Amino acid sequence: MTALHDALERLSAAADAGEVPAAADLEAVLSSTDAELMDVVAAAARLRFRHFGNTVKLNYLVNLKSGLCPEDCNYCSQRLGSKADVLKYTWLTPEQAAEQAAAGVAGGASRVCLVASGRGPTDMDVERVGKTIAAVKNAAPGVEVCACLGLLKDGQAERLADLGADAYNHNLNTAEETYADICSTHTFADRVDTVNAAHGAGLSPCSGLIAGMGERDADLVSVALGLRGLDVDSIPVNFLLPFEGTPMESKWDLDPRRCLRILAMVRLANPSAEVRLAAGREVHLRTMQATALQIVNSIFLGDYLTSEGQAAKDDLALIADAGLVPLGPESAPEAVREAVRPRRRGAGTDVAPNA
Ligand code: SF4
Repeated sequence: MTALHDALERLSAAADAGEVPAAADLEAVLSSTDAELMDVVAAAARLRFRHFGNTVKLNYLVNLKSGLCPEDCNYCSQRLGSKADVLKYTWLTPEQAAEQAAAGVAGGASRVCLVASGRGPTDMDVERVGKTIAAVKNAAPGVEVCACLGLLKDGQAERLADLGADAYNHNLNTAEETYADICSTHTFADRVDTVNAAHGAGLSPCSGLIAGMGERDADLVSVALGLRGLDVDSIPVNFLLPFEGTPMESKWDLDPRRCLRILAMVRLANPSAEVRLAAGREVHLRTMQATALQIVNSIFLGDYLTSEGQAAKDDLALIADAGLVPLGPESAPEAVREAVRPRRRGAGTDVAPNA
């Protein structure tokens, strides 16, 4: 037995016992060799299939308000001072948002994520989003709605729950120890407070991370265990899209095998959480996306907030080829992206959405 196999055995035992795994064992997953990669994937896949069977949850993003954010998150194409060539527009009307959401639902999504750039909503914004939630649910009964509006002030999480939101997303993004390296306008503690507020209001807490920002293995493990400590229901794992015109434009640190190790580590740290393959999967996982589906049980369908994803039909083909089944309506199957392409379709344009 190698040291890696010993670590995987301890991680499996911790998962079986419902115990918090050791950080050192999770770091061993991240530092595994290419020859050990499929052992790592298999250990994570056992947990994925135990908790979620062969299902894949499809989520669909609607960017209610794009760009021009006053915050300075270094990774973000919508940040203060960003020169990235992304769409910029103010709030979509509830009808416009519902139309976008309906396209995603028709493509198979069972959750719609309503996102707005900015530090956080005003109370008026919360009411506006409430109207949008109602319009989305009216057009697509049964769909789950997750709001992602930034930092919440007292009472706003409860109000969103009253207005029909099912979930709230606010990502931790990186480790507490290094949070100041990626943002100066708010803190890790601010983000934790919002996740806790959402949870306390009865919203399903969704919070994830971004890999590829120059973090150490210990940082990735720290944020994965931090998410476990917050008892979040769903964990989007994003891989940095280094947009030109942002401080991280030249950070191309990831490769497909590194991405698989990161996903496996997050799964082993959070065995029963919905682990969602999020932005950057086409760019960084490329042909290994199918392998990633053995670890994650959830993906975003279609486009991301400011970048284009692969065709929804290609996602559905990927899922079908792996013998997996989307949660929600059925769709039919049918490339590999080599560069970040700013989104030019869907919300904020006159072009049909990618769904
Ligand atoms: S991540 Fe959110 S808060 Fe940070 S700059 Fe981007 S839109 Fe603003």
